Amino acid sequence: MIEPMPVSHPRTVTYSPAYTLVPTYECFNRCTYCNFRTDSGKSPWLSLSEAENKLKQLQTQGVCEILILSGEVHPHSSRRAEWFQRIYDLGELALSLGFLPHTNAGPLSFEEMKALKQVNVSMGLMLEQLTPKLLQTVHRQAPSKIPGVRLQQLEWAGELQIPFTTGLLLGIGETQEDWWETLEAIARIHYTYGHIQEVILQPHSPGSQQSWDAPAFDPDQLPEVIAKAREILPGDITIQIPPNLVGHPQGGHPQACLEAGARDLGGIGPKDEVNPDYPHPTAQELREILEPAGWELVPRLPVYPQYDSWLSPNLRSLVEEWRTTIRTVDSPSPLKL
Ligand code: SF4
Repeated sequence: MIEPMPVSHPRTVTYSPAYTLVPTYECFNRCTYCNFRTDSGKSPWLSLSEAENKLKQLQTQGVCEILILSGEVHPHSSRRAEWFQRIYDLGELALSLGFLPHTNAGPLSFEEMKALKQVNVSMGLMLEQLTPKLLQTVHRQAPSKIPGVRLQQLEWAGELQIPFTTGLLLGIGETQEDWWETLEAIARIHYTYGHIQEVILQPHSPGSQQSWDAPAFDPDQLPEVIAKAREILPGDITIQIPPNLVGHPQGGHPQACLEAGARDLGGIGPKDEVNPDYPHPTAQELREILEPAGWELVPRLPVYPQYDSWLSPNLRSLVEEWRTTIRTVDSPSPLKL
């Protein structure tokens, strides 16, 4: 049984008013729980003009963050440079239209990360699980999921002073001990570089496109994982939970997660591209659930204030503008796009 945390009133929980651009769904990995990927050649890349049209519609919809979420082209592919350039250009475009980009495009080279820092206020990559045994099961055909490759991304982000979001995918064949080991690794890297702004605890939620036949992570277990994560992680790392995946609100699951120590609900937009079978609630719907339980839902930027000084001058001035207006925006959902 998790005891409520002693918190001062009003208790706040944050979310990011966001929209996801997908440069491509093609991915050379084949994680068996994936509901996102297509084979190479099956997903036309998002053109800059298509993206510009979409972004211009979003300018009046209260969106702040543009999450650039891409499937991966193999690092040794002849198309890698073009793929990377598209991701860079989308970030630059989003910035030019006044949005704050956050890119998650799988493992990158050090030079790719360094370049993307110029057009992103933060970046992300799920560590998922450190245990190598998943390379024999759900990640057997997913070279990008080699734990050492992903740990190195966290290290490089730290060296480059990139505010970073990472997290665990729960319920893909790991043990409880594996959770704590993964969380301890994140904590260790953060103690060195101080750059991890959020850790997402994402429960495996089966979707209609995945090949792996396995049950969902039990939402009743999530509060205990959150409470233990709160003990392991440094206090300046926020724990994020995806509100569309934590179980039915009427079951009290979101509130139980907050009582256990989660304080952020991530990017809320019209579609969860990674879990398309689980629509996001709107901010208004979340407020109706959370306010009676004593929680105030507050919009935030995709970069936390303690990292503003790490940004280049042009990014910082845009972020400063957003800091003065973010409280006045509301959820971008539902969007008419
Ligand atoms: S989960 Fe990510 S890395 Fe794995 S196949 Fe899907 S898009 Fe690719």
